[in-house]
Amino acid sequence: MTDIAFIGLGNMGLSMAGNLLKNGHNVVGFDISNDAMKSHVANGGSVGATAAAAAASATIVITMLPNGTVVHNSIFDQGGVHETMTTDSLLIDMSTIHPNETDEIRKKLAARGIAMVDAPVGRTSVEARTGTSLFMVGAEKHDLETARPILECMGDTIIDCGGAGTGSRMKIVNNLMTTSLNVLTAQVLTFSDATGLDRDLALKVMGGTAAGKGHMSTTYPAKVLKGDLEPAFMIDLAKKDLDIALRLAGELEVPLSLPAQAEEVYMAAQEAGRGGQDWTAIYDMLQKKPAFG
Ligand code: NAD
Repeated sequence: MTDIAFIGLGNMGLSMAGNLLKNGHNVVGFDISNDAMKSHVANGGSVGATAAAAAASATIVITMLPNGTVVHNSIFDQGGVHETMTTDSLLIDMSTIHPNETDEIRKKLAARGIAMVDAPVGRTSVEARTGTSLFMVGAEKHDLETARPILECMGDTIIDCGGAGTGSRMKIVNNLMTTSLNVLTAQVLTFSDATGLDRDLALKVMGGTAAGKGHMSTTYPAKVLKGDLEPAFMIDLAKKDLDIALRLAGELEVPLSLPAQAEEVYMAAQEAGRGGQDWTAIYDMLQKKPAFG
């Protein structure tokens, strides 16, 4: 049984703290919302009047808060956990924040002799509830091993991202993909609806191609990630298809901002003499000339 302080009992934190309780840990929570605190008590936890009070006897302090400023302040402000944390305790920040903020918080904690792990969460509050989250961990090896049994109570996938601050960076990279793809997905389905196609059929078809399976698990490993730019599907042809889609979307009066920007990147590839290369060579081009992105 470990004494844990849990700061931030929102959509994610309340369930995560609940899973720690279910695994027999003593979890003292703190949240600025009284309702959140009451819910944690209803789950069998206890609460502190401040973050510092919650952390008073904790060897692990977890923060699960909306942004970097709130994380920073809940640690270093008056009533923050720095007032009571000792040098043998560990802070695990599981919030999604700017990696520079992660680095700054780590540095300020290190100056007080306190170690920190960044362990942002993949997946959503659904998996937080069922204890099947994915954690992207940035930590010194021994700190990761201290955190591991605690993380295992809340998730089923723990990925060592390769040292302090890398979890925070990985999370932002991951969410650039998921947040952008969300908009692209909405635009593509809106376009599909406008053509009159059945949505379930469209989902089925795209689920069987790189559209739905994703380039990262299909075309990229087969070509550009192996350094092979010989065309399985040429940039010129991909650009032709994108042009048709954009023309049809114009006729159907469906605005498609992300595909229109993608077209500019394909044009840059053609202008760079890459029209005959595999369509995944876009990545090779951006590695060498990021300005084309
Ligand atoms: P949320 O808004 O539901 O919860 C945040 C909690 O922090 C709230 O209960 C709020 O009252 C509390 N809080 C705010 N300021 C505080 C302070 N100074 N001291 C103590 N408590 C304070 O948000 P969430 O969905 O639980 O997300 C938390 C973090 O996890 C965010 O950084 C988010 O980006 C990240 N995240 C969320 C999801 C998701 O699916 N919801 C998934 C992965 C990561």
